[in-house]
Amino acid sequence: MGRIRILDDDTISKIAAGEVVERPASVVKELIENSIDAGSKNIYVEIQDGGISYIKITDDGSGIDYDDVEIAFLRHATSKISSDEDLFNIRTLGFRGEALASICAVSKVELITRTKENDLGVFIRVEGGEIIEKKECGAPLGTTIIVRDLFYNTPARLKFLKSPGREGTIITEIIQNLAFSNSSISFKYKNGDKLIFATKGDDNLKNTMLSIYGKQVNDNLLEVNYDDGSVSINGYIGNNALAKNSRNYQSLFVNNRYVKNKTINAAIENAFRTFTTGDKFPMYVLHINVEPSIIDVNVHPTKAEIKFQNEQEMYKIVFDSIKKAFSTTKTIPNIIFEP
Ligand code: ADP
Ligand code: MG
Repeated sequence: MGRIRILDDDTISKIAAGEVVERPASVVKELIENSIDAGSKNIYVEIQDGGISYIKITDDGSGIDYDDVEIAFLRHATSKISSDEDLFNIRTLGFRGEALASICAVSKVELITRTKENDLGVFIRVEGGEIIEKKECGAPLGTTIIVRDLFYNTPARLKFLKSPGREGTIITEIIQNLAFSNSSISFKYKNGDKLIFATKGDDNLKNTMLSIYGKQVNDNLLEVNYDDGSVSINGYIGNNALAKNSRNYQSLFVNNRYVKNKTINAAIENAFRTFTTGDKFPMYVLHINVEPSIIDVNVHPTKAEIKFQNEQEMYKIVFDSIKKAFSTTKTIPNIIFEP
């Protein structure tokens, strides 16, 4: 008697959902990326209970057409690419058409949306992947989506979540990094009753950093600037006064994608340490732009590790740029700020 069987559709969809939606922060990331792809200028995120019981995202983007609203929740349904050729010219954050399908398979979703071509909007309610309700309704331009009771139908996953406080912190980090890579969008973020931050959306990275880290960091941020025609670097690194006990205040973006890269991080920290004493970590937000062909991006949806074709050359460029940032400043960090 054979023992191999094909899984039922419900199990298949829950397994697939698990690959995209690991925790509340993955929901927040996917939904904000959809808002960005929709051309939003203002994105408002509200969470409760670390996002486990409630996530609400409101945007003023393109909205979704009445006829598309149900399709948007189907697996592999996307408006962003139409053929495999498009895979080599992706200009949006999403393209797999998996997020809404995955999210609605493991939560209770309500979505209200309206496009500028329509006077009336659409309301749709989807629970555990099933459409419960769909109707026309009055709505502002853009999309509001509410995700309730994440993993209500997959208790095994629910058990693996951290405390609401910890899940909330992970969400905060995700939104910060999306704000750092989209300074022209205004992000407002509320956790429970508390406004965590609101960015201006004035296309100024330093202002975005001040909105997130507080105005008091202003005097201690050094500008990093480099451009040789094929590699450009810009951003800010905190001087010794802003040095931290952890690496939680380090955000690196390559071609506007949040990434981790040990070589670049070592270049930044080693250059920082030539100007400072102690073993604390620098705070920084750095954008590196390069020819896409010289990086190897692991395209798995949740992996953020990348490799450069010539890591040693990148090390030197970044190291020198950080040194330059410190040497062109008027402050003398290790004398004035070392506690
Ligand atoms: P993907 O982003 O990979 O296309 P998603 O499942 O995240 O897949 O979304 C499916 C589709 O729903 C998108 O292609 C887009 O057309 C539409 N959509 C989702 N969220 C929004 C939004 N906030 N504003 C406008 N359209 C949206
Ligand atoms: Mg998406």
